[in-house]
Amino acid sequence: LSELQGKHVTVAGLGVSGVPAARVLHGLGAHVTVVNDGDDERARAQAAELEQLGVTVRLGDGDTLPEGTDLIVTAPGWRPDKPLFAAAERAGVPVWGDVELAWRLRGPDAAPWLAVTGTNGKTTTVQMLASILKAAGLRTAAVGNIGVSLLDAVLGEERYDVLAVELSSYQLHWAPSLRAHSAAVLNLAPDHLDWHGSMEAYAKDKGRVYEGNRVACVYNVADKATEDLVREADVEEGCRAVGFTLGTPGPSQLGVVDDILVDRAFVENRHRNAQELAQVSDVNPPAPHNIANALAAAALARAFGVPATAVRDGLRAFTPDAHRIAHVADVDGVAYVDDSKATNTHAAEASLAAYGSIVWIAGGLAKGATFDELVAGAAKRLRGAVLIGRDRALIREALARHAPEVPVVDLDRTDTGAMLQAVQEARRLARPGDTVLLAPACASMDMFANYNRRGEAFARAVRELDA
Ligand code: ADP
Repeated sequence: LSELQGKHVTVAGLGVSGVPAARVLHGLGAHVTVVNDGDDERARAQAAELEQLGVTVRLGDGDTLPEGTDLIVTAPGWRPDKPLFAAAERAGVPVWGDVELAWRLRGPDAAPWLAVTGTNGKTTTVQMLASILKAAGLRTAAVGNIGVSLLDAVLGEERYDVLAVELSSYQLHWAPSLRAHSAAVLNLAPDHLDWHGSMEAYAKDKGRVYEGNRVACVYNVADKATEDLVREADVEEGCRAVGFTLGTPGPSQLGVVDDILVDRAFVENRHRNAQELAQVSDVNPPAPHNIANALAAAALARAFGVPATAVRDGLRAFTPDAHRIAHVADVDGVAYVDDSKATNTHAAEASLAAYGSIVWIAGGLAKGATFDELVAGAAKRLRGAVLIGRDRALIREALARHAPEVPVVDLDRTDTGAMLQAVQEARRLARPGDTVLLAPACASMDMFANYNRRGEAFARAVRELDA
């Protein structure tokens, strides 16, 4: 992009998006200054690398706008209320995120973007979508927070026909000119509100994904807030609102009839009013929220013109990422399921809804959440609960209020052996036919490095039962 040549660009934040952004901008002939809040060892190593290229790096001061800045390219996680952005606004300096940068740098014959956002299910849906597009013989990749970075996808050697793009609310906030071919908002539940400032601001940022869509805005029929966002969006003429539902679909919707995923929005045959796409059993795993993800992925693929057979083949070829309602083992007639990725209450609600009689392992860092609604909704299906982690009292109190008859084991330990004990306690509570479900509804960092480690500890503990 020659228009950046000679411009003074400030990159806000080192790290996964800042370092490659600084490199690319430098390569385009911009004068690049990186500003970074932190000044630790890692930052210094990254800074040294960039300085060798001729990039200026200011460590320990992410809030002073360098003199003469024409443009800021920010890491998506930087909060909009940071003083740096107030200074930029006063000076009339535009702010782009990593997605905006990739969008602007894409070539004239670049692949269109099929975009996915939402509070939960993004990664799964984008991977399903990529699998479907591949089954249709298209050159594609799942990009964004997963797999290939957007900048690499846009600037790399590899040629794509279409990209399956996962976008967070942060990334959308900083991507004012992005215009997707089609986009889906899977669901909207309170999350990251400290960053966005309010639920309205969060919804507004998610809704950005629909702006300028050309073919379809895909929404969740069961989540009216997503439909409202479609209505508020300014789209290209002829762009359609397409709903997905776990029930019987109306016109312009995809849904489920007799355990078959059907499409009433994009029907090839004029003489029919619905197109069968796949069986519910083709979805892995066929839990309700995951069928919703499959329908959203199918809607985007169909908006791109993908045939029904490719939807079926793509869904069959898809395997979920680890720690997303992953079946670990059956021991004595009890199924052990790892949904460590359920790091908020909305996600845990979905996985609790997928099973009949559950011994629930939960707890960790609550991030300001309340648990009454979650516990009240699941109470009838709980055989018992085992609570771990720092904020477990919040869940215990909700259980006492809404499910007083459910036996609860409260584990007052956060050492590495705690998960083993939790699984052993769960086994004692479970009866044949039950599911022991790790769906913590909380972040993991009080006890584990991340949700992966938490899920691995669970799986290890289950295998020890089995031994
Ligand atoms: P994200 O990328 O949005 O974090 P993932 O696909 O990684 O989403 O799924 C994260 C967790 O969210 C899953 O482990 C599951 O508990 C839950 N989940 C997945 N899809 C949905 C959905 N459509 N609605 C509600 N919860 C979901």
